[in-house]
Amino acid sequence: MSDTAKTNLMGLDRAAMEAYFASLGEKSFRASQVMKWVHQEGVSDFAEMTNLSKALRTQLTDCAELTVPEIFSDRLSQDGTRKWLLRVPGKSAIEMVFIPERTRGTLCVSSQVGCTLDCAFCATGKQGYNRDLTAAEIIGQVWLAKHMLAEQYQTDRRLVSNVVMMGMGEPLMNFDNVVTAMNIMQDDFCFGLSKRRITLSTAGVVPKIDQLKAACPVSLAVSLHAPNDELRNQLVPLNRKYPIKQLMAACNRYVADSQRARITFEYVMLEGINDELQHARELVELMKTVPGKVNLIPFNPFPGIDFKRSSNSRINRFRDVLHEAGTIVTVRRTRGDDIEAACGQLAGDVMDRTRRSEKFRQKQGEKIQ
Ligand code: SAH
Repeated sequence: MSDTAKTNLMGLDRAAMEAYFASLGEKSFRASQVMKWVHQEGVSDFAEMTNLSKALRTQLTDCAELTVPEIFSDRLSQDGTRKWLLRVPGKSAIEMVFIPERTRGTLCVSSQVGCTLDCAFCATGKQGYNRDLTAAEIIGQVWLAKHMLAEQYQTDRRLVSNVVMMGMGEPLMNFDNVVTAMNIMQDDFCFGLSKRRITLSTAGVVPKIDQLKAACPVSLAVSLHAPNDELRNQLVPLNRKYPIKQLMAACNRYVADSQRARITFEYVMLEGINDELQHARELVELMKTVPGKVNLIPFNPFPGIDFKRSSNSRINRFRDVLHEAGTIVTVRRTRGDDIEAACGQLAGDVMDRTRRSEKFRQKQGEKIQ
């Protein structure tokens, strides 16, 4: 059997793994055994799975594989943020970021190579769309991070306590693979994360928000960025298809059964574009229509972009208007600035990346792998 015909078990959730072992004539508990080896123990060689019979280990080596993206570069920021550039087949690169905080560690995971949505202020959008990541490539990021962080921190403690689908791509445009990967994140035999510790961020693909609720109701973040359609149409072109009213209705349906659940609305602060007092007042009115909180994100500039980050005083003024009107609001602290790991900076084609990472390598002390 050729390599290309091998099934990559990395991307199989419980249902798919059980179906796979059934197809080999094996009992369903094999699925749990293998999932534990792979995701808890970090084993990627079937020969090491000692509670499987020798015959099954040989059979798996012949017809299955466990592959994850390849590490291309690995950088550590002064503030502890760590960013990896990963290579996936098709001469493509994706990025993954780990953000350690006092009480949690958040892994920011990519869902696509590039993105189709082309939001005006987003670096990933500028590189166009290349392809969807497979479920194995999505969960493979969590798998890699878990084991590389265990080495870095020399501990068995769970370091990745939260996953955010906020890296490159629009996760709801790669729905099935993202849901499969999030199922694996939640599985007790794998990463055991609760739904509320997984956040999916979307620019607002309305029909898919309803599907997500049915399939895998994780925490939802919505990239709003403007309080009215006229401005949002310019910043988030997807708004022309699904305007704010439809988006808010979908958000309300998403949290309808839960008294406590709230949607996080992300709002990137662009100087002179969406950060006027009038915008804050409009946003207050909009927030009265949905159980949500607002997260203000200082814009992260990148080469070739005209937008500017709002000054701190404008961000604070905007925040105060929301706060005084009773809207829950936070300002996101920018992390990993020195390694270009901040939101919306995850971009660039492989050629560009190759040149850049060669430059990085020349600088001693930056690369930690
Ligand atoms: N496609 C999804 C997830 C990826 S982007 C989405 O739109 O939500 C994750 C977050 O970073 C989004 O809120 C996005 O709008 C924001 N973002 C993109 N570019 C940015 C930039 N240059 N500065 C700050 N935030 C940015």
